[in-house]
Amino acid sequence: MNREEFNIRYLLELHNIIMKMDKSRRKQFYERKLDYYQFFIRIALIATGIASLGYLYSDYQLNGGNVYPTLIPRLSILIPLTLYIVCEHRIRDYRLKVFADYLLMHCIVWATIWSVYHLEDKTHFSEGSFSMNLIMLVIGLGSNGLAGICCYAVFFAELIISNAFNHYTNFEIIMSLNIPCAIAVLSAQFILSMSFLDHFLTELKLEKSLVTDPLTQVFNRQKLETMTEANVIEGAIMPVTVVMLDIDLFKSVNDTYGHYTGDQVLRYLGKKLTEHVRKSDYVIRYGGEEFLILMNGCSVGEAYTRMENIRADIQNADDRPAPFTVSAGVASYEGDFKAAVTHADEALYLSKNNGRNKVTNSSHESDLA
Ligand code: GH3
Ligand code: MG
Ligand code: MG
Repeated sequence: MNREEFNIRYLLELHNIIMKMDKSRRKQFYERKLDYYQFFIRIALIATGIASLGYLYSDYQLNGGNVYPTLIPRLSILIPLTLYIVCEHRIRDYRLKVFADYLLMHCIVWATIWSVYHLEDKTHFSEGSFSMNLIMLVIGLGSNGLAGICCYAVFFAELIISNAFNHYTNFEIIMSLNIPCAIAVLSAQFILSMSFLDHFLTELKLEKSLVTDPLTQVFNRQKLETMTEANVIEGAIMPVTVVMLDIDLFKSVNDTYGHYTGDQVLRYLGKKLTEHVRKSDYVIRYGGEEFLILMNGCSVGEAYTRMENIRADIQNADDRPAPFTVSAGVASYEGDFKAAVTHADEALYLSKNNGRNKVTNSSHESDLA
């Protein structure tokens, strides 16, 4: 939990967070929530559909020992239920999945209303309709508040419309049972949703910290390992350029200004690199004072120019914690990540051997092509 105590103020804070979330993050939240609860929702819905067939016995009693009038209406649920069992797990879009869940629930309501039409004694519909709130609460675990409200609006419309032909003798009771229940279910849905958001935010923090270097706040080696499994860069937008960057004579920065200032230099460099690269690029702390930059959709020539700008910017900046310069090696990625790193490394050593504070392109053939 992100707070010590769960209270109304915190719920509202969480609600504020979700309102301000960008579209893709909000989608990720609802997708994860549905992924987590869908198994439970599926089982509950299938069980409710099957259980609704059990009412054939009470229909039999209410119709004086005659099961036939409600046989077809009750069995009709088997069609949407079968379709749901066959199709639900194939649906990829989470909104369609939520729609399928609510649709099956409404099919159960429609089959019940149709069955009640054929009952002599319709008073027990109040209990039947009331029990739908339970399944509404379960489906609500995987959906959002708006979907929950819309579903209830449809449910109340179904009650009102069905009263026009079913003529419930206790319609007021049906409504007075269901309205407070709807408010309770929607409130519970809101609280449960915010509680899941609390977990989601913690999860995001953990996921981020797993791939973030705590000192420089750029990506760590763990991120690089997962991105370059099988020696190819995952999601590469060609042409891709690999840059190896190293602080010049960093040992002497530490020796002259102390390790605390050395750390501040690293932090400063992490920030500087992050500011200079584009959204599609990755800055990774490769080792102690070495950084690897993956430039997506960037040729070696462009990367060289950009690295030259960064190098000059660092050399001339007056907000540095201590004076320092960087050297870099630039190489193109041709589908073999290790080879690209080796070529960028070789170019970096050339920068070092040629007096440091330099950027060098790899002399490797494919880089020059
Ligand atoms: P060169 O120009 O050849 O790269 O020289 P250099 O001194 O930068 O290279 P060298 O590899 O000899 O030294 C790297 C130094 O980086 C040594 C180590 O103490 C320092 N270093 C590595 N990680 C950290 C860190 O997290 N914090 C601090 N303050 N220093 C670090
Ligand atoms: Mg160095
Ligand atoms: Mg080094």
